[in-house]
Amino acid sequence: MTLVIAMDGPSGAGKSSVAKGVARVLGLRYLDTGAMYRAMTWWMLREGVPVDDPDAVAARAGEPELVCGTDPAAPAITVGGIDVSGPIRTQEVTGAVSAVAAVQAVRERLVALQRQVIGDGGIVVEGRDIGTVVAPDAPVKIYLTASAEARAQRRSREFTGAAVSATQADMARRDGLDSTRKADPLAQAADAVEVDTTSLTLDEVIAEVVRMANDSTAGGAGNSAQQARSLVGEQLGEERT
Ligand code: C5P
Repeated sequence: MTLVIAMDGPSGAGKSSVAKGVARVLGLRYLDTGAMYRAMTWWMLREGVPVDDPDAVAARAGEPELVCGTDPAAPAITVGGIDVSGPIRTQEVTGAVSAVAAVQAVRERLVALQRQVIGDGGIVVEGRDIGTVVAPDAPVKIYLTASAEARAQRRSREFTGAAVSATQADMARRDGLDSTRKADPLAQAADAVEVDTTSLTLDEVIAEVVRMANDSTAGGAGNSAQQARSLVGEQLGEERT
């Protein structure tokens, strides 16, 4: 298997931005597994399935045809041919996704799909159970965290423009559900490296993960932290200008 970087952590820790940045610097594919749970939830809501009834959700979990792109520069997701990249980010979907993601039949279907996409590797995969369940053999496993306040601040800036306190409460609710559910809860794999992003810039976190990845592929003789930072500066700096 070629390189698989598994990136887990609670919402707002920076997983998407870091995972996409790492994939671009290293020329890898990128898979957002949260988008798949969101797309499944969007479809259930559209079909009028009562999302708080696990049996009703399980009975329909095999139906939607999900296709998830892997280009970090243009992540795309479709359900039955409809582009849902925008609709899956609404409050309605965000409010319902943890209930849908807790249903075993949903997880079995999506984990199988995720493993298909991962295939032979060459990919950065972000989610909640990547290092523990989806790709337990991934050679690089990162668990991203940040303080609850920093996470809420980032989320409300990025997506909702909502009050930070409301975002923080919603994220705490979702993280609570995600980490206490029976099926594949949010958890740090025993061999994952925890990176606390509270006081790091995005490029600093990307550089740290790039350094770990290069170290892993070079059998411990990869870039220094300084070299990794220059690589990130060169690659992403060029794209930003
Ligand atoms: O990452 P994002 O916030 O978009 O994920 C949305 C939801 O999808 C999470 O709150 C969680 O309930 C679910 N999820 C999951 N397992 C994953 C990725 C996401 O249960 N691997």
